[in-house]
Amino acid sequence: MSQADLTCDVLVLGGGPGGYSAAFRAADLGLSVALVERYGTLGGVCLNVGCIPSKALLHVAGVIDEARHLAAIGVDFGAPQIDRDRLRAHKDKVVAKLTGGLAAMARMRKVALLRGVGAFVGPNHMQVEETAGPGQAKTGGVKTVQFQRAIIAAGSQSVRLPFMPQDPRIVDSTGALALAHAPKRMLIVGGGIIGLEMGTVYSTLGARLDVVEMLDGLMPGADRDLVRVWQKMNAPRFDRIMLKTKTVAARATDAGIEVSFEGEGAEATVQPKTYDLVLQAVGRSPNGGRIGAQAAGVAVSERGFIAVDTQMRSNVPHIFAIGDVVGQPMLAHKAVHEAHVAAEVIAGELRGDEKLARAAFDARVIPAVAYTDPEVAWAGLTEDQARAQGIAVEKGLFPWAASGRAIANGRDEGLTKLLFDPGTGRIVGGGIVGTHAGDMIGEVALAIEMGADAFDIGGTIHPHPTLGESIGMAAEAVHGACTDLPPPRRSAPILGASEKRNPP
Ligand SMILES: Cc1cc2nc3c(=O)[nH]c(=O)nc-3n(C[C@H](O)[C@H](O)[C@H](O)COP(=O)(O)OP(=O)(O)OC[C@H]3O[C@@H](n4cnc5c(N)ncnc54)[C@H](O)[C@@H]3O)c2cc1C
Repeated sequence: MSQADLTCDVLVLGGGPGGYSAAFRAADLGLSVALVERYGTLGGVCLNVGCIPSKALLHVAGVIDEARHLAAIGVDFGAPQIDRDRLRAHKDKVVAKLTGGLAAMARMRKVALLRGVGAFVGPNHMQVEETAGPGQAKTGGVKTVQFQRAIIAAGSQSVRLPFMPQDPRIVDSTGALALAHAPKRMLIVGGGIIGLEMGTVYSTLGARLDVVEMLDGLMPGADRDLVRVWQKMNAPRFDRIMLKTKTVAARATDAGIEVSFEGEGAEATVQPKTYDLVLQAVGRSPNGGRIGAQAAGVAVSERGFIAVDTQMRSNVPHIFAIGDVVGQPMLAHKAVHEAHVAAEVIAGELRGDEKLARAAFDARVIPAVAYTDPEVAWAGLTEDQARAQGIAVEKGLFPWAASGRAIANGRDEGLTKLLFDPGTGRIVGGGIVGTHAGDMIGEVALAIEMGADAFDIGGTIHPHPTLGESIGMAAEAVHGACTDLPPPRRSAPILGASEKRNPP
């Protein structure tokens, strides 16, 4: 191998939440770090075209919807005047603030940033074809980096349906976030979280929605009782919800994109339907196949995933992988936790710190949130999973119709549900649907990590009046101690919990 332009302890490929977190943690632990990113800003999908811009727009949509609700109780702001250019500029400013902050933090840590497309050229070398400008245009410059350890954090990209024509009216989530269109009729292909979040924004801005989903329900993964609450509230946004249905063809016409469907939701007589905008949200595919992994001996699956152990180590012991490229769930908070593990293991090995070198990804649960309105959030075992797998659970349910705060907010459609292991009494899962559910699910995840039981959670004083109280009350409901609900029908306390309260 020819002389390298740069040598480092750790090379990180990809500057998304996984990559920058790994690079920063490794630098904080005293290692020399190079971070390779093809785009001009750090933050990856999450900060640039994912979590953050979508939430900036969802916030605006939420305020508009809230203002509309207020009209029904005597406070009418009138119809909103929406200036899409200023709205887009606001979203871009939010993104720039965060990505600029990351660049500054990389400088503070002396992380060497290399802008370009990286590919392994050997087990300890990566070649970086330098890029410039707003995209990934190559400059012709090439740099070689020599590393002792590498962390692959190359992320994922939207799946594109092969039969979709190239047309600006057919977009993925990145195209949808660009707000280039003001559709009246919009089709969402794929009824998962990303599609439904973007659909919420566009519908509030004036689009009528159709959604087509191959499975038998929207928001797969979430308990159906939670999704039903969301669906009831959101029914007015949709003209058609086509379940167990496939999009089979699409044609660009002057009038719009004409789309054909097949399946149970595509009523036999229905002709192809024409849309002003089609959002493809049918999943994301990992970028593992595009990084020259074979030159380093790293095994990549046919679909582009890199298999790792609990220390985030690939089949090549000095090369690690984290984030979307190692598998589901493709979520930023999972990537960040994996990043810390990989960086700690590497620092432990290179600095001879045995404790750090033993770091492993041992989180019990990875919470999931749909930032729709209402939000749907869950962590750990779901009730539907428990039923399908024949796992017995004790359920504590608190309907928000009994929550003072939810009623005061005019949003009492939600519910909070906790699931406990009847044998140990410990919490194994929980789900929340309602406003701010995403902000509350962390408490459920903490309870699961701490092995809390219903008495621990119910006995924790939650401030009143808050939506968070619903978690304490759902726990109290399990052992019949919730006085904000009608009297319990049965009083048998769950095992472990009663033992704890009245030790023998
Ligand atoms: C619309 C949308 C909304 C989302 N909302 C949420 C949410 O609310 N919460 C949540 O947890 N998750 C959300 N996600 C998912 C989240 O964005 C991803 O899980 C997260 O970004 C994964 O982080 P990562 O570091 O693994 O990869 P990425 O963020 O994909 O980053 C990978 C980086 O590697 C770079 N890269 C790849 N290959 C190369 C190469 N060869 N050379 C140089 N650079 C390379 C890419 O340019 C990219 O910057 C959302 C995703 C989308 C699309």
